[in-house]
Amino acid sequence: MTVEFKQRYLRLLPAVDRILQEKILAEIGEEFPRSLVVETVKDVVSEKRTIISRAAAEKELELLNISPPVLAREALEKIRGRMEYNLQPVLNATGVLLHTNLGRAPLAAAAVEAVRGVGTYFSNLEFSLNTGRRSSRYEHVEELLCGLTGAEAALVVNNNAGAVFLALNSLADGKEVIVSRGELVEIGGSFRLPEVMASSGAFLVEVGTTNKSYLRDYKKAISEKTALLLKVHTSNFKVLGFTAAVASQSLVGLGREYGLTVMEDLGSGVLVDLSKYGLPYEPRVQDSVTAGVDVVTFSGDKLLGGPQAGLIVGKKKHLDIIKSNQLTRALRVDKLTLAALEATLRLYLDERKALQEIPVLRMLTIPSGVLQHRAEGVAAELQKKLGSGWQVGIFREKSRVGGGSLPLASLPSFQVSLECENINAGELVQKMRSSKPPVIARVRKQKVLLDLRSLQEEEDRLLLEALVDTLGDTGQERHGGGK
Ligand SMILES: *Cc1c(COP(=O)(O)O)cnc(C)c1O
Repeated sequence: MTVEFKQRYLRLLPAVDRILQEKILAEIGEEFPRSLVVETVKDVVSEKRTIISRAAAEKELELLNISPPVLAREALEKIRGRMEYNLQPVLNATGVLLHTNLGRAPLAAAAVEAVRGVGTYFSNLEFSLNTGRRSSRYEHVEELLCGLTGAEAALVVNNNAGAVFLALNSLADGKEVIVSRGELVEIGGSFRLPEVMASSGAFLVEVGTTNKSYLRDYKKAISEKTALLLKVHTSNFKVLGFTAAVASQSLVGLGREYGLTVMEDLGSGVLVDLSKYGLPYEPRVQDSVTAGVDVVTFSGDKLLGGPQAGLIVGKKKHLDIIKSNQLTRALRVDKLTLAALEATLRLYLDERKALQEIPVLRMLTIPSGVLQHRAEGVAAELQKKLGSGWQVGIFREKSRVGGGSLPLASLPSFQVSLECENINAGELVQKMRSSKPPVIARVRKQKVLLDLRSLQEEEDRLLLEALVDTLGDTGQERHGGGK
């Protein structure tokens, strides 16, 4: 290809101003910021210039359409894309209820309502309506947390990793903390207990073996440098087979004997007895408090079903020390979190209400018969709307709780399975991620599975519409029947 040939193309590239005069861009009005429109058109022109400069053969350039209307249309599409929110709701059809990558717990309607109110207007965040003086933001939930767990005092920080860090820094900085080797957990690659402990200033003393730890192991490790005995709930894995772990109560006894603080990191922190609903027993926060544990930490957005937060409950004496730590300020929760948390906790005042209105609890306890019925409904309608290129069926596979909770609990569930002769399952899930809202599903044996357990009932319709909208044409391609 000659240099002249390339230069002719570069000269043919329309000027930015010329493209901006195209009707679709000129009439865009106030919908999009002017600067974004201009910048995007510049980007489109610059991309074309690069393509022309890098082209190796004349043929490549002859295929390139650089007329002003074409470039204007391309720019408009880009502008629309740039105006879309990066963070957006998705339809979680993975069956994993607490998916850290998908934002863990969806909030109860009451929590969203509380966020809207406190977010829209000023609030009494740190202002006492009684005295007209300054008050503490933590008071809005402390009484509720104490009432629900039986603890004497409570504090809320940014997340549970922060709660563990803050508690250890407050109670064991420069001292030794004894923990069972079998409980040194790593959660989702982001929470490594040994590292959190190291940065808190506490020194880790591991006792026992991976599968067995006895009270005598803790006892042997106690020295004048020991400040705290720590128990960690192995919430995202289970050590099976020959195992032995020390119960909270025994650890409390040992702590009393030696005047040591006993702390338990529960991870998931559930407030209702899930075994009543056919699920495996998960230690409740109130059980640890009753056992006499001094400090208990847990997450707000795991089985509790609220916003991301780290909850610390326990003895007043210990909580007072934690509250006076300057680092509390660095880990403090914002008003939106507090609003959502208070509303969520209030639902727990009536267990029946909590199970009905907190999405995670409702998803956990929904009868599989209901899921089957929903799956059949969605499957039938999908088959009808997508047409003959598709095979829609019902699959039966267990769903997982996820998010480092109830590791062995697999819940009987029903999935809608999807197959299309024109597109493989991998491409299909990718395509589904581009629907509005995006649908996140998994692949099993060359089929795409849509698990309805991790969707709220009202999302079934959104799922159907999103899929029909995005996949509607796929079944017809290569049949010559497309539009
Ligand atoms: C999940 C978990 C954490 C971390 O909690 P975040 O709220 O994610 O910070 C800490 N400890 C245990 C045992 C956990 O399961």
